Amino acid sequence: MGKKFVYLFSEGDGSMRELLGGKGANLAEMTKLGMPVPQGFIVTTEACTQYYADGEKINDEIQAEIYKSMEALEKIAGKKFGDMEDPLLVSVRSGSRASMPGMMDTILNLGLNDEVVEVMAKKTNNPRFAYDSYRRFIQMYSDVVMEVGKKYFEELIDEMKEKKGVTLDTDLTAEDLKELANQFKAEFKAKKGFDFPSDPKEQLMGAIMAVFRSWDNPRAIYYRRMNDIPSSWGTAVNIQMMVFGNTGDDSGTGVAFTRNPATGENKLFGEFLLNAQGEDVVAGVRTPETIDHLKDVMPEAYEQFVEICGRLENHYRDMQDMEFTIENRKLYMLQTRNGKRTAAAALKIACDLVDEKKISEKEAVMMIDPKQLDALLHPQFDAKALKAAKPIGSALPASPGAACGRVVFTAADAVEWHEKGEKVILTRLETSPEDIAGMHVAQGILTVRGGMTSHAAVVARGMGTCCVSGCGEIKMNEETKSFTLDGKTYNEGDYISLDGSTGNIYGEAIPTVEATISGDFERLMGWADQYRTLDVRTNADTPADAMQAIKFGAQGIGLTRTEHMFFDSDRIPAMREMIVSKNETQRRTALAKLLPMQRGDFEGIYEAMQGMPVTIRFLDPPLHEFLPTAEADIVALAKEMGLEVADLKATISSLHEFNPMMGHRGCRLAVSYPEIAEMQTQAVIEAAINVQKKHPEWKIVPEIMIPLVGEIKELAYVKEVVVKTADAVIAAAGSDIHYKVGTMIEIPRACITADEIAKEADFFSFGTNDLTQMTFGFSRDDAGAFLGSYYDKKIYEQDPFARLDQKGVGKLVETAVKLGRQARPDIKLGICGEHGGDPSSVEFCHRTGLSYVSCSPFRVPIARLAAAQAAIKDEK
Ligand code: ADP
Ligand code: MG
Ligand code: MG
Repeated sequence: MGKKFVYLFSEGDGSMRELLGGKGANLAEMTKLGMPVPQGFIVTTEACTQYYADGEKINDEIQAEIYKSMEALEKIAGKKFGDMEDPLLVSVRSGSRASMPGMMDTILNLGLNDEVVEVMAKKTNNPRFAYDSYRRFIQMYSDVVMEVGKKYFEELIDEMKEKKGVTLDTDLTAEDLKELANQFKAEFKAKKGFDFPSDPKEQLMGAIMAVFRSWDNPRAIYYRRMNDIPSSWGTAVNIQMMVFGNTGDDSGTGVAFTRNPATGENKLFGEFLLNAQGEDVVAGVRTPETIDHLKDVMPEAYEQFVEICGRLENHYRDMQDMEFTIENRKLYMLQTRNGKRTAAAALKIACDLVDEKKISEKEAVMMIDPKQLDALLHPQFDAKALKAAKPIGSALPASPGAACGRVVFTAADAVEWHEKGEKVILTRLETSPEDIAGMHVAQGILTVRGGMTSHAAVVARGMGTCCVSGCGEIKMNEETKSFTLDGKTYNEGDYISLDGSTGNIYGEAIPTVEATISGDFERLMGWADQYRTLDVRTNADTPADAMQAIKFGAQGIGLTRTEHMFFDSDRIPAMREMIVSKNETQRRTALAKLLPMQRGDFEGIYEAMQGMPVTIRFLDPPLHEFLPTAEADIVALAKEMGLEVADLKATISSLHEFNPMMGHRGCRLAVSYPEIAEMQTQAVIEAAINVQKKHPEWKIVPEIMIPLVGEIKELAYVKEVVVKTADAVIAAAGSDIHYKVGTMIEIPRACITADEIAKEADFFSFGTNDLTQMTFGFSRDDAGAFLGSYYDKKIYEQDPFARLDQKGVGKLVETAVKLGRQARPDIKLGICGEHGGDPSSVEFCHRTGLSYVSCSPFRVPIARLAAAQAAIKDEK
């Protein structure tokens, strides 16, 4: 016997999610708990991997196992697949390890054909139901398996409704639906050139293969990249006997959360529709009822559902997101999973579960996705401005947050405007999975249709993007790219604002204010800080950034860049003068102008940091970045310096570099022009001495960081300049201040020779942006042009600039850590690349034994939580 590729629900359990997928494992678990679950079987994720290994084929062995399990299911159900007396219908549902909402498509009512539907109609004495199920099946199967778009069928339904003078699907009669089923089959044949498959076995295999195929559709690939899901996992397929919510008004279907997924409030939250099937609730075709209403129409089913909700939540010890169907007043559970929730809800639920003694503080810390905190760290509306603004409409507060941007009407436009640097609000009738890229770049999402569990709402909450859904008053004109609301027309590019917490829509730009950490957020961060061992610093170039970071819990600055401040219009002339200087004397004159500005900047930063450590990096970028390109600027600079314009132009063109990233930059500047390093050292040390004098209670120890070192001798050379200058400044001031000189490790050669370099360095800080660039041999600024093809071809699954490449770049970091410690056991190690705020990279830094990570101010809380999770995982 080879591997087992198919499991009955009764053969699995909740711990088997890798093999059975999340949906399948939970269906098995609910079965084990004795809950009313329509039975079925699961084709494993390994079968999916095998399908791809076999060249996109389900091999004979697996097919045989599937048919055998179908026989077992027939026994359990007491019905037969494709039978002429008591036919069994099934759903075919995808389910990977991590839930991927809306990414893969489900087929319902499989097993129907022209004969079987007649049998169903007779047997149930409900031909309307039988034909409703049949037309749905043809539509879904054609769309998902055969790639005949849904829209053709929807058009036929609309035509039928118009012809019959009705507005709701539920008003169509058995005859209408039968006619529709025939039209659908004809449409199918017209599009495909062959008949709709009538053999249930063929339908079944076709559907299973379609689920496997859908693992590799562009939407799924995009979602995986956004959520760090490897393509090697594969998806499982669930084959489950159908239960019917569309038999009449004694039936229905719904979705519910054990707590409110937007606010976290501990109250059952959900929606349902009578006489409906599956995705009707989320598709937004009819407006659903709230779950409370179920109590009135079907009290027994409601009571049982509430009881099951409680049991599930206690069992999984987390908020559950469930699907259910009621067939002739009998309740069936179709799905449960840990529910997606907004960041605010996640924090409230975690704290509440601790208070309810259901989980420990440590478990609460592990429960929050650090990336999700991002949504809470960004600006909220300015309360005064918000109060003054008058909403032009309001709809469902589907995903909280404040969004302000320009209206766009398609996902493609959203992406295009975003690339031009514009903030956008994506406004749609309703969203579909195809819109995901546009939703991702939008500040906010506004839809005309759909409830709290619509696609837009679910996806937006997952992304932490503000969303207001179901604004039926909007008159949409997709052709002219405009909409009308409250008597006014808004065109593409007009500003609007959305409040995702109240559902209000504003026809203007409303200013926003920065976020603060308080309440549940503060409580959870407090727990996180108890567990983490990594320090979290910030990358900050200005006192304002530094103060923001302190509010978010930063313990120091890991990187202050000393060049950004020179782009200000009052400073750049002196900087340019320094760069085009022809000799040392000229350069020193210009540097003398820069010194007080630089010293003032550092004083501001030391003041803001109140004695916490601050690492200051010396001048790093290629100098020509500062040079004037506009004719007027060149003329002005020439005049200022008393140069001929032509002469200055010649100097400028001589500074041109073919590969500036690998050109005259970093410590190479200080090697050519040591007077630059002298000036910067003087500025740092004087600033530190001045601030220390004002605040004797602080202990300021300047950390000077030399960038882009690849060879011990270049570090030794620059360090000597720094030490000489610093010691002279300290002696002249009669100060006893201590300082450190370290280096940024960002060139592969530095990693490999880290034992030598450590002899001259008090600390290493890994500059993983450049290190990634230099290790891969492509630049961050140019990689965008080709990384797309790399993702498509699965050569890379992640952007190495966003998530540290642990295999390659990580190996260099580990090497440098090991060699550095060998030479200098007390060496201080940190990271200051963008990666310092990426949770998986933070975990890597923890494992590698760094002492701190440093990231942008807005990511400090994310890094704090990620560091805590890394430490907790490490305990195990
Ligand atoms: P998704 O992952 O997109 O939610 P699902 O596989 O959960 O897809 O199914 C889509 C819809 O069909 C859901 O509303 C689900 O409850 C419903 N459904 C799935 N299987 C059955 C079944 N066997 N009987 C009745 N409804 C079903
Ligand atoms: Mg589902
Ligand atoms: Mg660098």
